Amino acid sequence: MREVRIVPLKRGGIFATIRVDDFVYQVARLSSGTQVLSKQDLSKLHQPPNDILFPELRIEPKAGARQRNEKSPDKIRLVIGFTAAAESGAGGYAALVDEVSDAIANAHTSYGSSDIDLELEIAAFARPAYTESSVHQALSDLYYVQGGMWLPHQARESEYADVIALVVEAPGDPVCGLAASLGSVKETAMFVVRRGCFASHVFAHELGHLIWADHNPEDASIPEPIIPFAHGYRREAEPGVAGWSTVMSVTQSCQSSCPRQNKWSSPVHEHNGEPRGTAQTHDNARVLIQQKSVVAGFYPDPPATQMEHTSGTPKLYTPHGRLETAHW
Ligand SMILES: [Zn+2]
Repeated sequence: MREVRIVPLKRGGIFATIRVDDFVYQVARLSSGTQVLSKQDLSKLHQPPNDILFPELRIEPKAGARQRNEKSPDKIRLVIGFTAAAESGAGGYAALVDEVSDAIANAHTSYGSSDIDLELEIAAFARPAYTESSVHQALSDLYYVQGGMWLPHQARESEYADVIALVVEAPGDPVCGLAASLGSVKETAMFVVRRGCFASHVFAHELGHLIWADHNPEDASIPEPIIPFAHGYRREAEPGVAGWSTVMSVTQSCQSSCPRQNKWSSPVHEHNGEPRGTAQTHDNARVLIQQKSVVAGFYPDPPATQMEHTSGTPKLYTPHGRLETAHW
């Protein structure tokens, strides 16, 4: 399997990702202007089956529901919080913005490959005064608004963002990402991702949980599915046939290697000439299509005057109340 993505940056230089099976080579541009090449082995990443903070919360899906406003059902706005460790790990603020933008572009590619009409929009960035430890602790602190985590919440209110995503560095943490709940209400629409896991499609994966998409059935987050077909799909390797899996699948329990593809499970879409799922059990594409409007409806669109003011460029919120325009 090979994926090559090269993105010219407005501020000069390029951001590039070259993926060959489980190896990812990335070219990034640091805030200092230096271009750096890194190599990552995705098979070394661990994603324990249960990456839901509150799996016991039983949130009822509402098919095709519109919430309290008439916002577009196809657009989810996100506040992107990040820790100082993640910023410094990326090589500065501008480089972190590049990485997040690329993760979102990748999510868009995954939706396109499954005919899911969904757009993610960065409403703002937020740099809370917060010292990170683990992925789990970060989501708990974000949820309970501890340790400076009021800032992403304030940014969310000001920018009418449906979801808060928090990027942490957490090197060595066995957890790649954690969503607050399977399915979501406004109060639980948040997730944490490790910056080093972006290449394994963790951003789309955790957001997928908030829209009721769950893992492959063998590694489901809850024993009894709320939506029977809300599962990822995976194809175990056989002699002469390479294994693979979809965005919501957990790959560590595969008998052999089954690298995660940037595609959603679906009985009407294929990968390597085979269906990516079944109508009864593995159709996360349908889950997203049916449920995205619930998450997109947590906040109305920002007032037109606010949109003119920001002219589409996300702001950076800092604890000092200063609003800086993101430059990259
Ligand atoms: Zn998961």
